[in-house]
Amino acid sequence: MSHLQNQSWLAISRSALRHNANLLRQITGPAAFGAVIKSNAYGHGFLETARTLEPCVDWFCVNTLSEALDLYQINQHTPCLVMGLNGQDLQLLADQDPKILKSFLRPIHVAVSDPALACDWLNRYPELQLHLKIDSGLSRLGCNPDTLLQQPEQLQDLASRINPQSGRPNWTGLMTHFANVEDVSEQGYAQAQLARFTALRQELKRFQPALLCHTAASAASLLLPAARLDLVRCGIALYGLWPSNETRLSCLSQFGQIPELRPALRWFARIAHTHRVPAGSSIGYGCTRRVEQDTTIAVVPVGYYEGYDRLLSNQAYVLINDQRAPVLGRVSMNMITIDVSLIPAASPGTPVLLLGNGEHDQVSAEQLAAWSGTINYEVVTRILPAIERRLVD
Ligand SMILES: *Cc1c(COP(=O)(O)O)cnc(C)c1O
Repeated sequence: MSHLQNQSWLAISRSALRHNANLLRQITGPAAFGAVIKSNAYGHGFLETARTLEPCVDWFCVNTLSEALDLYQINQHTPCLVMGLNGQDLQLLADQDPKILKSFLRPIHVAVSDPALACDWLNRYPELQLHLKIDSGLSRLGCNPDTLLQQPEQLQDLASRINPQSGRPNWTGLMTHFANVEDVSEQGYAQAQLARFTALRQELKRFQPALLCHTAASAASLLLPAARLDLVRCGIALYGLWPSNETRLSCLSQFGQIPELRPALRWFARIAHTHRVPAGSSIGYGCTRRVEQDTTIAVVPVGYYEGYDRLLSNQAYVLINDQRAPVLGRVSMNMITIDVSLIPAASPGTPVLLLGNGEHDQVSAEQLAAWSGTINYEVVTRILPAIERRLVD
């Protein structure tokens, strides 16, 4: 991947990440603060982000056990919750050195959706710490609350398991996930999910009184104070991005102000080549664009392979010293062509801002998402992990 070095890179603002974490923590306290760093920290760079946030967070949350193992290389003390585990991932544990495994398991917590399966795992790994995941209305992971209460013996079995290292119960948490906070301004569905969860929490505390209860991702952390409970799990907002415009507007109408989230990511590439084409030329695959005048084209070495969506063809612009240069023609696999006719300084080596804030203008993740028919989450998480993430400021 060395061809990408210096040709394209991400500048990740440490101060923005820490500002967002501290701000969110202030808003959601006294709940413990969990930083969701799955999917390469939403494209921001997994280890870079984890190192930056370590001093500002109480928990890290990841999707897979293998992410938790990566985190363990640089951080052995912050508790880490694996939220998306499936049975196969446990094989990863079997492959670890047993000595490392024992210390590794200490800060690792795993979300499980089935108490019987949880007990199976504890037979093999008595040091695992588990959070039971409840399906309160998303219908994805999680156990059905009604079936759960019909099987009290399973819950008793789970609650009786003790971690031999800590002397405390293996079953430490209870969680659920909302289906519909960010897409609406009316929170009836989420309120019903929360009511379902809190009713179940009361029932389950009979089996294990000290459960750490958590439900809220970014949108619920911001909009539903009652959902913050013992721990919040913030992803997108931590990176300075709003879960949606609805969330931003709801926040404003509910609290009269909105927290100042600072986007932490800027994506750059250097112009590789420029050339002049005569009026009437077609630009790119499919001849989707014809220029009316003589035009100076610059080639930028980023395409859909690198995560610059093909739907941005003939839609987006990039910034060169805060001046907009439109994308002309189709986005190809590893390149785009931009119009720099009005930017005489543009030449090979000139940096181009593909995403992020310039001095006076910006290309926001929301703007790219609107052009390409998706959401800001997808725009940032799809930036190729092989591109270098440089921590700045
Ligand atoms: C990804 C995820 C989050 C974080 O969601 P954001 O909207 O990015 O804050 C929280 N909880 C679970 C279970 C998740 O999968």
